[in-house]
Amino acid sequence: MTTAHGIVETPAFMPVGTQGAVKGVTHRDLESLGAEILLSNTYHLYLRPGDELIARRGGLHRFICWSKPILTDSGGYQVFSLAERRKITEEGARFQSHLDGSSHLLTPEKAAEIQANLGSDIAMVFDECLAHPADAVSARASMERTLRWAKRGRDRFQQIRDRAAESRIPNPGQAQFGIVQGSVFPDLRAESADRTVEIGFEAYAIGGLSVGEPSDVMYDMVGQTTPRLPAALPRYLMGAGTPQDLVEAVARGVDMFDCVLPTRNARNGQLFTSQGRINIKNAKYAEDDGPADPACQCYTCRHYSRAYLRHLFATGEINAATLNTLHNLHFYLDTLRRIRESLTFGRFENFRQLFHESSSRHPQDS
Ligand SMILES: [Zn+2]
Repeated sequence: MTTAHGIVETPAFMPVGTQGAVKGVTHRDLESLGAEILLSNTYHLYLRPGDELIARRGGLHRFICWSKPILTDSGGYQVFSLAERRKITEEGARFQSHLDGSSHLLTPEKAAEIQANLGSDIAMVFDECLAHPADAVSARASMERTLRWAKRGRDRFQQIRDRAAESRIPNPGQAQFGIVQGSVFPDLRAESADRTVEIGFEAYAIGGLSVGEPSDVMYDMVGQTTPRLPAALPRYLMGAGTPQDLVEAVARGVDMFDCVLPTRNARNGQLFTSQGRINIKNAKYAEDDGPADPACQCYTCRHYSRAYLRHLFATGEINAATLNTLHNLHFYLDTLRRIRESLTFGRFENFRQLFHESSSRHPQDS
């Protein structure tokens, strides 16, 4: 995938840097882990420090000092999950900030404007994130609204791009992705995909999954949606998932992922390993001199024992979050690296089978 800030090998995993930073690690760490693209959250950056302040600093890349590609979400998901007293109308989503209660209106146009100020390489169109489970009637109404919003968001994006020179936005090469909705209803997913492609975006994402539905339902929805999205363009499954989910989504044609699991779980002491998940808090690791994952080549596993990681976690040392995050991100990024390699050599099916066997062979920590 080619962006205004360089090339990203796909399938790719994007570490989540909500406020312009990936919690617990530095950009130097991310570069040495091989991260090629970051995700940042529009909702958070709009509220603090503000998209206009960031535009005055020359855009998000300059402000956070990251010269590789950045994708920003539309802010919609956070409005639906974080904000207080939100009210959805045809115009957009009015909400109160979770920080100070101040009132804001996020519309498809406004989401495009904020992201133009941030200057990310990939902007996401504003969509409605329906809670799961939803009935077919409300899922259809929401999908239809998302399509109307998509058209408005696309129009505003193109206006800004046409006037890039005079408006002096930080990244005139920004792309915008459309988002397929439709909950867990195959006919709605199909219609949403076809009509979103009709509007015409640089590429397409699948939204509204990984929100609590069983994984076989998610795999099924992904498998039914990807064939309707142009094969030559990247397909992005938003917010997924476990390492197993990533492998299964790639098998169904997905090229891009973002998820807070590796970073958030690291801070809670849960480590993803080639043998499944381990919980470093557990007493059984108190005198375990082995690395978190014997198959892992990350900085944490090359230097430190499970016993030490458990001690750092138990005593609340900041390093616990850093070392655990380094490991989990390495596991995710390395899994994607191995997927790409297996695809290059035509051995993906073999990789997929071995990956699932290895992670289910051992008992998982609770
Ligand atoms: Zn490791």
